[in-house]
Amino acid sequence: MNEQDYQKIIENIEKEKKYELNNSKLYRIKKDKRLLVIRRYEFEGLLYMMHNYHELLAHFGINTTYEKIIEKYYWKGMRKDIEIYIKFCDRCQRRGKPIGRNELHPIEVKEPFYQIGIDFVELLKVTKRGNKYIIVAMDYFTKYPEAKAVKKDNAKTVADFIYEDIICRHELPQKIISDRGSHFKNKMIEELIKKFNIKHKFSTSYYPQTNGLVKRFNKTLYPVSHRIMMSIILLIFGI
Ligand SMILES: [Zn+2]
Repeated sequence: MNEQDYQKIIENIEKEKKYELNNSKLYRIKKDKRLLVIRRYEFEGLLYMMHNYHELLAHFGINTTYEKIIEKYYWKGMRKDIEIYIKFCDRCQRRGKPIGRNELHPIEVKEPFYQIGIDFVELLKVTKRGNKYIIVAMDYFTKYPEAKAVKKDNAKTVADFIYEDIICRHELPQKIISDRGSHFKNKMIEELIKKFNIKHKFSTSYYPQTNGLVKRFNKTLYPVSHRIMMSIILLIFGI
């Protein structure tokens, strides 16, 4: 939705019957559903997440992507935007047609938050709030990424994130997988892990697929432009 329309709705929100403001986010009311209104600068990031990254939808065709997106989101002209985005998708063009799901991950996990992979993504630019990294934890079962923009990539950041954003907000994971970086392999993390009786496995360069999930997530973030990256962060991570 363009900025002018968006602001107009916000200004008249009390009179609007089709829209609702919740937690400073605008929703369109459609029957019994509340659809998040996507602003102009957000839709590229959303489409990137839904079409290029999303585990089940990656590089699906226009109709499937559209059907999935209208379940949760709304903006004017969304069908057309989705169509154009997919028609110009590099990978879809090279393959001739949209493809199905990604290859399955070799590690089998049976329940949500049983096993999580954790890693840092370095941002291309420091954000207004002084954040330089995103710490990402990916659940191996649901592929749900929990992420937070942070200032430092040290042990304290990792410990706080595991405790506040994983243990307190989700389940207590049984296994955490990370690389051997000093922010993951240290006394502070060791104590936290022991306290909650979690197993910590280190992926090594000999077996890079062990932590393949987070790495793949990161790889999909790295090559995108700064603009898309920022809109993903704004939209998905709400910062
Ligand atoms: Zn594609």
